[in-house]
Amino acid sequence: MGTAATSSNIHSSVAEFIAARRPMLINGKWVEAVSGKTFPTYDPSTGEVLANVAEGDREDIDLAVKAARAAFDRGPWRRMTPSERGKLMWKLADLIDAHTQEFAELEALDNGKPMTVARAADVPLAAEMFRYMAGWATKIEGSTIPLSVPYTPGARYHAYTVREPIGVVGQIIPWNFPLLMAAWKLGPALATGCTIVLKPAEQTPLSALRLGELIVEAGFPEGVVNIVTGYGETAGAALAAHPDVDKIAFTGSTEVGKLIVHAAAGNLKKVTLELGGKSPNVILKDADLSTAIPGAASAIFFNQGQCCCAGSRLYVEQAVYDEVLEGISNEAKKIRVGPGMHPKTQLGPLVSDEQFKRVTGYIDAGFKEGARAATGGKQIGNKGYFVEPTVLVDTKANMKVVQEEIGGPVVTAMPFQDLDSLVPMANDSAYGLAAGIWTRDIAKAHQVAEELRAGTVWINCYNIFDAALPFGGYKQSGWGREMGEEALRLYTETKAVCARYA
Ligand code: ADP
Repeated sequence: MGTAATSSNIHSSVAEFIAARRPMLINGKWVEAVSGKTFPTYDPSTGEVLANVAEGDREDIDLAVKAARAAFDRGPWRRMTPSERGKLMWKLADLIDAHTQEFAELEALDNGKPMTVARAADVPLAAEMFRYMAGWATKIEGSTIPLSVPYTPGARYHAYTVREPIGVVGQIIPWNFPLLMAAWKLGPALATGCTIVLKPAEQTPLSALRLGELIVEAGFPEGVVNIVTGYGETAGAALAAHPDVDKIAFTGSTEVGKLIVHAAAGNLKKVTLELGGKSPNVILKDADLSTAIPGAASAIFFNQGQCCCAGSRLYVEQAVYDEVLEGISNEAKKIRVGPGMHPKTQLGPLVSDEQFKRVTGYIDAGFKEGARAATGGKQIGNKGYFVEPTVLVDTKANMKVVQEEIGGPVVTAMPFQDLDSLVPMANDSAYGLAAGIWTRDIAKAHQVAEELRAGTVWINCYNIFDAALPFGGYKQSGWGREMGEEALRLYTETKAVCARYA
């Protein structure tokens, strides 16, 4: 483990940002919670308080929804051309780029992830998301529809569809990629002309609040983006249930996803969900093991395993099982674990005490059910939420560690005999978010890709994201897709207009 970050190596603007109590963004203004309450966010590498943030609740959500409604119905946002909307989004992307180091540090401090990773992945991907979606703002088109109405013989119609913004959107995001998840959510909503109430996760509210400052600086009209910080059971639940919200977009656990569906039933608001996963990663015996082994390690250990699409079930063809197991265990041992702010850190702490207890609880449950750690399996140190990169073996299909999402750097490795037995094993999950296949045999690659029930299949790569590539889940991994053109459909309503002209 490296040494902890000292205040001297924190960017001065980040130090200033976390030193002051952080208000929320409602109707273009930075405001305290109606209750006056705040809540702490913690540095997961030490467990100490990092900053204090306004604790939004039902009343604050209501004010934010009112602001978003006014901005949608009456604000300049509705009258802006799509090109002007796109320009604002592009400007926001440029501002994010200009503040890359600051964002990387905020993510490292608040979430624990390696600052170098946030700088190379989270922050540029967030900027690119806004650019990609900015391009779509001018391309959200309907169609003309030829009609053949049987009961009005001779009549002629001009019929067309218009894709209109869905309205006021509530967006609830998780703590694993705080800035990037905000961008995935805001991008399509802004491109289509919606207005937004965003609720960041209580564990990691800081980068979204900094993003809010850049949104104001870019010149978005007031009320278009409102950011309410607070807890899930209070602020989040109030947003999901609010009768004047037209759509709720949620990323988080499957358990909370189900609560969101219930909460949304009151006004039948539209719902999209990006939920948990337990993704199979499959190595065939003909794979190039020099890329498959580090690839499989990165598939699970990237972001401390706190990715909903983490390759957490590793299936290896029997003939190469021992070699892969040894290889991935060596990869796990090589990883430099330390505070996110340390420039050499490759794997940071888990995000919170709760997540730490959850992950170590799963490892213990695995041991109790008969699994064994080929490597890892323990806490590192006694300060902060560090867990060793862990490879579990001797697992069985019905064990908790094979069935349930752990959300940490823990992979189960299992051998398989042939593709016929592999496919049902790989699909034996309540989830269906992602999957990986490593092979040199192009036919087998596409055959397995076809048979896996997952929203994303990576072949000879893993965790490859692009703003243009849709992402989302089969089964209990969610409803709908994020990113790509697919996401836009879920932020628009289709209006059919039919005009008789003869
Ligand atoms: P995790 O269990 O991994 O922390 P959650 O699904 O609890 O993930 O959290 C994801 C997001 O959902 C966070 O922003 C959290 O505040 C929010 N949330 C949690 N519970 C609720 C709820 N009952 N209603 C709405 N949002 C919630």
